[in-house]
Amino acid sequence: YTPLAEADPEVHQIIENETYRQFSGLELIASENLTSLATMEANGSILTNKYSEGLPGARYYGGNEYIDQLEILCQQRALKAFNLDPKIWGVNVQPYSGSTANFATFTALLQPQDRIMGLGLPSGGHLTHGYYTAKKKISASSIYFQSFPYNVDPSTGYINYDELKKNADLFKPRMVICGGSAYPRDWDYAKLAEVAKTQSAYLMADIAHISGLVAAQVQNNPFDYCDIVTTTTHKTLRGPRAGMIFFRKDKDAEIEGRVNAAVFPACQGGPHNNTIAGIAVALKQVADPAFKEYATAVIKNSQAIAKVLSGKGYKLQTDGSENHLILWDLRPLGLTGSKVENICDLAHITLNKNAVSGDTSALVPGGVRIGTGALTSRSMGEKDMEKVAEFLDRVVQISLDIQKTSGKKLVDFMKAARESDAVKQLNKDVE
Ligand code: PLP
Repeated sequence: YTPLAEADPEVHQIIENETYRQFSGLELIASENLTSLATMEANGSILTNKYSEGLPGARYYGGNEYIDQLEILCQQRALKAFNLDPKIWGVNVQPYSGSTANFATFTALLQPQDRIMGLGLPSGGHLTHGYYTAKKKISASSIYFQSFPYNVDPSTGYINYDELKKNADLFKPRMVICGGSAYPRDWDYAKLAEVAKTQSAYLMADIAHISGLVAAQVQNNPFDYCDIVTTTTHKTLRGPRAGMIFFRKDKDAEIEGRVNAAVFPACQGGPHNNTIAGIAVALKQVADPAFKEYATAVIKNSQAIAKVLSGKGYKLQTDGSENHLILWDLRPLGLTGSKVENICDLAHITLNKNAVSGDTSALVPGGVRIGTGALTSRSMGEKDMEKVAEFLDRVVQISLDIQKTSGKKLVDFMKAARESDAVKQLNKDVE
């Protein structure tokens, strides 16, 4: 055994640098979190060596005695974390990521070219829910299925459930998808279930972003209404990077069989057992009462940032947040999300540019997305968030000042930003 530092100093140094970056700056990317050392230990373990195609008790490889125990434990913990009755719900913990979990779900329940309706990307939806543009079908979910997205009302930022219902009557989807990547409000699953029921469509929730909040019961519960629920495991759930698919059991175990066969062999090969171990460790933590405190604090923190920014007159999509994220509409200021993201990067603040409802270009979106999952894991509270919001206000004011002299072109703006004393000072203050 040669330690990484000796065996591969280059990779070791990159990891050291990234560790410093993650903990010296303010991590505000809504889809990220800081997972525990125990989770990382399991994720980096010897379990990576093992092949185990198939399911516990029915593998295509020998030597899976312990892997079977691990996968069953992970399944049990997943059901427990979401307070699900194993007689009613089952779970597949093998998806490599949220995207593959979603595609496996479509493969399980739909025929090619069946119709799906998910929240549109510029409205805060995810790529894998049927994203396409006027020029191109972008996601495999729009290449292999017909997609008709629903949207938020541009004047309020809230999902327009009436329009969704009207369009569903016309389009007659086979599946309605709830869930998104940049929607700052909770979901009305009852309304979506009504739409799905009228169309005899499946109702799927992709709770990737909010799964930690759902498990902690501080958001509405999709399991009361949906046929199938997918999630990533690395966002507010705070596990390693992967996905899970929860399915409602039917009497002939037909859905169960279809979901399991869609994950393997239809869409994936052997499970990543080291990751499944990491998920199991994270799910044990989710069942701990401390996790509910964490999830409650995530929302309070997000609302604390929203309050300061709104108080300064800035425009937030839906005027606030009731989950872990805020979508800040920069268009009234004449700024783009790219410029603000870049200034933040120069000041050790990490967030991402994001489309806001009504944006015409995905390349130059008019907003930024801010999330509180990671900073809350570092035990930061509302007072800290007020400080974070003050830093964000400075970022925007500095951006406006720079733009006044540099003009609007991003290259000129960035050149001026790198030379700006105000940016350098902000960087020092953040560190
Ligand atoms: N679903 C939603 C709602 C997401 O936000 C994301 C990622 O951000 C995914 C799915 C895809 O997850 P992954 O990156 O693990 O494929």
